[in-house]
Amino acid sequence: MFRAKFKEAVICFSNPRVTLPYPFGPGAELPEGFRGKITVDQTRCIACGGCANVCPSRLIRFYDEGERTRMEFILDRCTYCGRCAEVCPEQAITMTLEFENSTDHKEDLYIEQELYMATCARCGRCFETENAIDKIPVRRHREGRNFVGPSMPHGGPRPRQRE
Ligand code: SF4
Ligand code: SF4
Repeated sequence: MFRAKFKEAVICFSNPRVTLPYPFGPGAELPEGFRGKITVDQTRCIACGGCANVCPSRLIRFYDEGERTRMEFILDRCTYCGRCAEVCPEQAITMTLEFENSTDHKEDLYIEQELYMATCARCGRCFETENAIDKIPVRRHREGRNFVGPSMPHGGPRPRQRE
């Protein structure tokens, strides 16, 4: 038994320190692809709802309020799975390297954003977010069975030609 303990002590003292003095010193370098707190770029979001559909924690909520769509991200339920960032067609959601997210204030883990809707010139009803409409001139568009682009020659889809 003494020999086993002695051997154990030799192993312990001969190995270098493997722990870090965190949080009093620098922590470990974060690996590539680390998934920390999410951020949302409102200028890119088109309120498609893709992120809300796939979020397993159901923490992304949409409210249609007249001419605006309000989105809430209640991040105290986030599991950092990254699915929202993966499906976002506009790369509006980014997983940051921020992991020190413990807080006494729930509002620190809450994001709210409003997107304004474009209204139809004829009937006046909302039909799409302004962000999505703004992107039309730089998007590819369909011509017959093919997509062409990337930019549209006159800022919008060409009218369909009758055969
Ligand atoms: S953040 Fe991305 S996935 Fe979510 S609603 Fe906006 S555009 Fe769609
Ligand atoms: S990282 Fe996962 S849990 Fe967090 S908001 Fe995105 S989909 Fe939801």
